[in-house]
Amino acid sequence: MKRKANQTKLSNKELCELAKSNSGVSDARIISPSEVVTAAWVRLKCQFGCDGFGQCLVCPPFAPTPEQMRNVLDDYHRAILLHCRPGVDVKAIAAELEREIFLAGYWKAFGLGAGSCYFCRQCPVEEKQCRHADRARPSMEGCGIDVFSTVKKAGFPIEVVRTTRQCPNYYGLILVD
Ligand code: SF4
Repeated sequence: MKRKANQTKLSNKELCELAKSNSGVSDARIISPSEVVTAAWVRLKCQFGCDGFGQCLVCPPFAPTPEQMRNVLDDYHRAILLHCRPGVDVKAIAAELEREIFLAGYWKAFGLGAGSCYFCRQCPVEEKQCRHADRARPSMEGCGIDVFSTVKKAGFPIEVVRTTRQCPNYYGLILVD
């Protein structure tokens, strides 16, 4: 669904259709950003438990803190939660949909994906300047969002991955307005 800027506001149904027109998205739901859960412990799990901490510019400590992200979320009224198909590039999908929604007239559109960034062989963290700022987006968890609680609240499936045979659920979020 392609729309030009300044056209009438997209309905929730139209936004979900737009999101699901991306082949990597299996389902999409409109949620209020006030329902997105942020928590201080999420940053702790990044810092002590993820080997990506400090390794890329879209991850902590460079990404927004949970408190900063709460303030950002509180600036929005509408968001789309994306349930993505296994094995797809959630960050690329978030960046693509962000652009489509921006071009539909939503100048505040911002996408968040999952996991760390792999666009560059080695992220130039010492330069503090992303080389692909047009498409590199932070993950929800990297910005202090409690993805499990947020996703469960929206009625989507998610569970702790215990074995390599288990198929994980991946989610993205687009802040719209
Ligand atoms: S695009 Fe490159 S520079 Fe930007 S965060 Fe990702 S790895 Fe780092």
